[in-house]
Amino acid sequence: MRIFADLHLHSKYSGATSQRMNVYELSAYAELKGLNLLGTGDALHPSWLEELRRSLKPAGAGVYSLGGKVYFIPQVEVATVHEYEGKARRIHHVILMPSLEVAEQLADQLRGFGDVASDGRPVLSMRPSELVEITMSLDKRNLIFPAHVWTPWWSIFGAKSGVDRIEECYEDQVKHIHAIETGLSSDPPMNWRVSWLNGYTILSFSDSHSPYPYRLGREAVVFELESLSYRSIYEAIVERTERNRVELTVEVPPAYGKYHWSGHRKCGVGPIPPEEARRMGYRCPVCGKTLTKGVDDRVEELADRPRGYKPENAQGFIYLLPLQELIALGLGLEVEAETRLNSKRIWSIYEALINAFGNEFKVMLEADLREVAKISSPEIAEMIARMRENRIKLIPGYDGVYGKLILSEEAEKTSRRKFSKLEDYL
Ligand SMILES: [Zn+2]
Ligand SMILES: [Zn+2]
Repeated sequence: MRIFADLHLHSKYSGATSQRMNVYELSAYAELKGLNLLGTGDALHPSWLEELRRSLKPAGAGVYSLGGKVYFIPQVEVATVHEYEGKARRIHHVILMPSLEVAEQLADQLRGFGDVASDGRPVLSMRPSELVEITMSLDKRNLIFPAHVWTPWWSIFGAKSGVDRIEECYEDQVKHIHAIETGLSSDPPMNWRVSWLNGYTILSFSDSHSPYPYRLGREAVVFELESLSYRSIYEAIVERTERNRVELTVEVPPAYGKYHWSGHRKCGVGPIPPEEARRMGYRCPVCGKTLTKGVDDRVEELADRPRGYKPENAQGFIYLLPLQELIALGLGLEVEAETRLNSKRIWSIYEALINAFGNEFKVMLEADLREVAKISSPEIAEMIARMRENRIKLIPGYDGVYGKLILSEEAEKTSRRKFSKLEDYL
């Protein structure tokens, strides 16, 4: 069976998250999106754990549900802070667990390293290798992998406080690491360029802080499973068998991610392409501080294979952008703020399309575009056609600013010209 899964998200107990991050809203929006399986997020947080226990029913085989079509597995993201070669390293890791009881036990064991009740994504003072050791000796069915591996802050290869090799993070416990999460700002081809990452299963999840379908499931994994169970998910990620496997990952174009290129948001500087940023010595031309280095630049630093390299038996993937972004583009709306994506006008078109085709993934991947044009507009159908052929133009994201969809090459040139040349600042 085919399962669309988003296994990295957060609850309302994590910092900067929507108050609507509860299992009921998550379940309802997941259905609109076309997701069958979600991570619970924040499964070590006592209040959230209590809520999960009250509302979710075990649905057999290590998955839970509210009784509807959407299933959950216990999941948390944790941050470790430790020192390596005289420098502080701050790294995020995602943990999947086979039951809420295991989640509670893990919370107990980690309490000594940090406050698991203060934030849904706890910050723990410990070596990542210790975290893996504790997690895996508690229950060998647990799964742990580094989160959004290239993001400048809080990631394993991040420019700010990451490391250069996976062993430098997990040391002797690296044997328990079987997967990496690409994060929004990188895609599988970028990761293929690092030969020592080729053995790892590539995962893509949303890391969403809100339940709306332009955030939830914006990145996802399509599994092909024998049956929906924790064991099958484990097998697909770790053992990658014929009967349980990752069929493909759903990726936003990496330029959509908030850290694809370099820049300094506070000074309004960015996005700066890698060659240009290098030439500027990664200095902000306005304030002189260090630029936030783009994921594209960071991959280039660690890559040992040329751009365009594709390993044998490379995993499949597709590019998709949230339908609400494409509706906004088709309507000719500038989307500067998230609230615009949540506008009544966009929602009413979105709902009409979902009612006609079942869910967002069906609209994006299968719907007859003549029908889409009739229900919405020819312009919106055209945007979906462009998305299917990966012809959507984007101004890359930088320093926490999302990439921006644009209509024409001309618009792209104008906005890039504004930032891309050093002389423009002088
Ligand atoms: Zn994170
Ligand atoms: Zn600056």
